[in-house]
Amino acid sequence: MKEFWKILKAYLPPYKKYLVGSVVMNILSAVFNVFSFSLLIPILQILFNVGDVSYEFIPWHKGMPFDEISNNVYYYVGTLIEQMGQSKVLLLLCLVFSAIVAIKTSCYFGSAAVLVPIRTGIVKDMRMQIYRKIVSLPLGFFSNERKGDIIARISGDVQEVENSITSTIEMLLKNPILIVIYMLVLFRMSWKLTLFVLVFAPVMIGIMSVIGRKLKAHSTEAQQFWSDTMSQVEETLGGLRIIKAFLAEDKMTRRFENITENMKQKNSRVALRQASAHPVSEFLGSVMIAIVLWFGGTLILGESAVIDAPSFMAYMAILYSIIQPIKDLSRAAYGIPKGLASMDRINVILNARNNIVEAAEPKTLTGFEKGISFENVSFRYEDGKEVLHSINLEIPKGKNIAIVGASGAGKSTLVDLIPRFYDPSGGSIKIDGVDLRDVSISSLRALMGNVNQDPILFNDTIFNNIAFGVKDATLEQVIQAARIANAHEFIMDKEKGYDTVIGDRGMMLSGGQRQRLSIARAILKNPPILILDEATASLDTESERIVQQALDYLMSSRTTISIAHRLSTVKKADEIIVMNEGQIVERGKHDELIEKNGYYKKLYEMQSL
Ligand code: ADP
Repeated sequence: MKEFWKILKAYLPPYKKYLVGSVVMNILSAVFNVFSFSLLIPILQILFNVGDVSYEFIPWHKGMPFDEISNNVYYYVGTLIEQMGQSKVLLLLCLVFSAIVAIKTSCYFGSAAVLVPIRTGIVKDMRMQIYRKIVSLPLGFFSNERKGDIIARISGDVQEVENSITSTIEMLLKNPILIVIYMLVLFRMSWKLTLFVLVFAPVMIGIMSVIGRKLKAHSTEAQQFWSDTMSQVEETLGGLRIIKAFLAEDKMTRRFENITENMKQKNSRVALRQASAHPVSEFLGSVMIAIVLWFGGTLILGESAVIDAPSFMAYMAILYSIIQPIKDLSRAAYGIPKGLASMDRINVILNARNNIVEAAEPKTLTGFEKGISFENVSFRYEDGKEVLHSINLEIPKGKNIAIVGASGAGKSTLVDLIPRFYDPSGGSIKIDGVDLRDVSISSLRALMGNVNQDPILFNDTIFNNIAFGVKDATLEQVIQAARIANAHEFIMDKEKGYDTVIGDRGMMLSGGQRQRLSIARAILKNPPILILDEATASLDTESERIVQQALDYLMSSRTTISIAHRLSTVKKADEIIVMNEGQIVERGKHDELIEKNGYYKKLYEMQSL
């Protein structure tokens, strides 16, 4: 329960005014409900002809108790019957009854309607909060397995919280009000009967909450299967090409079948339990009514009747109205644990620690003056062994540094340390003599442009993809960047030119075209430091030539750190860093390294073959 209040405290405050509205509407609806049932008494009296009890008029005065008011109402009804006859008064009373019920149900609708912005708002706030967190978390948080899991959390779990927690808010807001008002009225009508009723309600609520608690564990597991499902769907969509090429459709389908089958079984158990909730509470409610009927009946039939028959009928009607709110409260007892289970899973993301923290008083970099230096840097991923060992490296301003080495040597890891996607585990990296951990992250990243092997593009227009990192870029600037990147022509060949939407991850473009867009993006940002991660590795020779031209322009006049697979492209580098198993094993210019007849030469010869 404490967790539940914590959630309310975190998400409800912006919606306070709606809460107040709902409370007012609920009170009104309960009051009108009681009114409508009190009207039943004179109606029943007329029908059963027990109206021979004559009522004395009590003069109106301030602070009149409820009994005296209803006494007077009955007195008026009595005189009306004398004037108009029973059937006309009956019709009149029925009309008034319908009118009051209409007001009551409108209030009831109103109370639910003012809560709609809370329901939908909290869910939106939660999604936004998760999204902001995702964007702020370091790259290291998002291993591949985690992606499906995160998608599941942002879709399924948030939905679950909406279904359970926010509808619980409605129930918790409405039902106590209804129950209290009805209880007060019931006590007024007959405290004996009501005391009797009170013995049963807690028993029923108790049984319900016991069942509810059992549900939490089950629904957590069911959600876990859901995120496994999403993980595999995501993986399948990404790897469909390979799945088909390796004829692995059946294998993947079987794997998926296993996951969904497990989920089916788990969900069936949860659903069965849930399905039992309604009948059980229906049964308990009806038993309660039966017992009260019996007890109330004996009170009427007894020698000194404490309640007359019509009042007893009205009493039963109000009692019946109290059952639904009590049932709803017990439903809330289910809803809360289910929602909390989902909330726990959402909190894993929301409470994830961001270990790339900004210094307390970060130094803002306004430009890049001297160079970047690695001093004895080592690095290990969260769960793994050390992948970089004592790296010492100077990257002077304006130089073009190439990093080569076999796959898995640690090249990408090394390069990821420069924009502080990760922090080194040992040693330090300095930019213009200042430790990266002491500079403002945004000013550091503003100095850098990235071009990756797989260009990362968004499902948006070409214009927006190029202008991605630059605020208020003009069309002229974008066109100029595209021209330099050898992209302008193919863009103009598109029907909508720069307004062409390029599809999910730029799917509607060829690899070379995508790469040229990402180069245009870097050109427009015009950063002093450029990081290229095998930018041409996945291209065919012709596109590589065009892309390389664009890259050459981009690299001239700025500091470049490029990872290269094809050694032919690194011949022009000012210094080549050769890496093997997390260490720098050789460094120098191409000719020097060939002359040295070492690891680089071996790599080079392997490629020449
Ligand atoms: P390269 O770019 O030279 O191919 P990487 O820097 O990608 O090499 O990888 C270096 C080592 O770090 C490899 O052994 C790889 O398995 C490991 N590695 C890379 N990324 C991660 C990660 N996110 N989590 C754990 N280990 C990783």
